[in-house]
Amino acid sequence: MMTVHEVAERYGVSDAFMVRALDLIGFRDAEPGTALPEATVDRFEAVFGNKIRAARPAPDPEFRAESDAAPTAARAVRKPKPHVMRVAHAAVTGSRDAQGNRVKALLANPGPVHAMDPVGTWDGDPWSGEVVPGAVHFFGGPLNSGPRAACGWMHIRAVLGDAFVPAGDPRAAGQCPRCAELVAEGKGFRSPPGSYDPFCHAFLYVKFNSQVEVQNCSLSGEHRGLHRTRDGATWDIGFDDFTPAPLDAGCRVTKVS
Ligand SMILES: [Zn+2]
Ligand SMILES: [Zn+2]
Repeated sequence: MMTVHEVAERYGVSDAFMVRALDLIGFRDAEPGTALPEATVDRFEAVFGNKIRAARPAPDPEFRAESDAAPTAARAVRKPKPHVMRVAHAAVTGSRDAQGNRVKALLANPGPVHAMDPVGTWDGDPWSGEVVPGAVHFFGGPLNSGPRAACGWMHIRAVLGDAFVPAGDPRAAGQCPRCAELVAEGKGFRSPPGSYDPFCHAFLYVKFNSQVEVQNCSLSGEHRGLHRTRDGATWDIGFDDFTPAPLDAGCRVTKVS
């Protein structure tokens, strides 16, 4: 039997889309690891197979041209990990470890948490693009130093391994509202000068039936026109010009924060 994730991979759609599609054909509460009976996979193919193939976006012409011209070089380009927008604390406290040495520690109530793209800071991304919940990296130097948050807040003192996911109500969730707004629109990234990136990392947080999901642009870094996910959702500026994937047409799509 194939799992939900394996079937999603076969069709080139996201796990989140698979779960919603399965729900529509009466297979409820599926998760990426759920094994699917063959009859369910057949039913999925019957209902969605042609629609998915019809909605498949054409490959980005610029990128295809480049690949055709230099197939070996194109294969050698490893897809870089997307930047993770992380949770950042503007204040930390001092503590002592078991040996009595002074160490930095997170505050129980750090105030609103900010979002930060650590790529391009002096320390870089401590977790190389992986989400590592609960991990902490403290910035060195005096208290009035430290990199800038997405909203422009100076002197971030600690960054967490967790991804910053904008809440529906940022204030109630203890998030900086400006950071939440920027991240929801896929903004607030730091772009190190002179960096070359063959992939577009634009993304947008959108609520599908009250579930917050990320929409990732699957095109190359230099693409023109709309951002497009591999399910076929598109946008240019943000939520206001967002068009859901044809297969998500039945969902209630609302703005995050
Ligand atoms: Zn902020
Ligand atoms: Zn894009």
